[in-house]
Amino acid sequence: MLTQRCILPHTASDIFSVTFLLIIVPLIYWFELWIVLPELYEYGTSPHIFHCCLGSFIMLNVVGNFTYTVLCDTSIRQVLIPTNKGDIKEGWRFCRICELIGPPRSWHCDICNICIVKRDHHCIFTACCVGHCNQRYFLMFIFYLFISTLY
Ligand SMILES: [Zn+2]
Ligand SMILES: [Zn+2]
Repeated sequence: MLTQRCILPHTASDIFSVTFLLIIVPLIYWFELWIVLPELYEYGTSPHIFHCCLGSFIMLNVVGNFTYTVLCDTSIRQVLIPTNKGDIKEGWRFCRICELIGPPRSWHCDICNICIVKRDHHCIFTACCVGHCNQRYFLMFIFYLFISTLY
């Protein structure tokens, strides 16, 4: 896995959303496990330990998938760009901003300022684009966030 060169948010909406997510998720985790859970079950009993482990497992998956989504580079930097004109297949396009040839379904992101392979969208909560390489981490991040909200 190639890592991104710059993971810092670029725009005000990115900075606000990432900060919100990085504050609210650990805050809820701390509140549920150290305030709510001891009220429901006595400390050290089997249900208490079970919910501690389950809550931590979900939190670990949320944090892990978020980290991988942010760190994974899905730009065209990692694509082998053909040097011969004859090797360029149909669907490849030239990006005037990057001044590079991009594979089919790659689109330029104005915020990341690079072409993204199989670009889905620019996520403001991770401050990066979701594309071919980090799509599975992004989907798992959303899935575990959903599970944690239900839980
Ligand atoms: Zn581009
Ligand atoms: Zn982007």
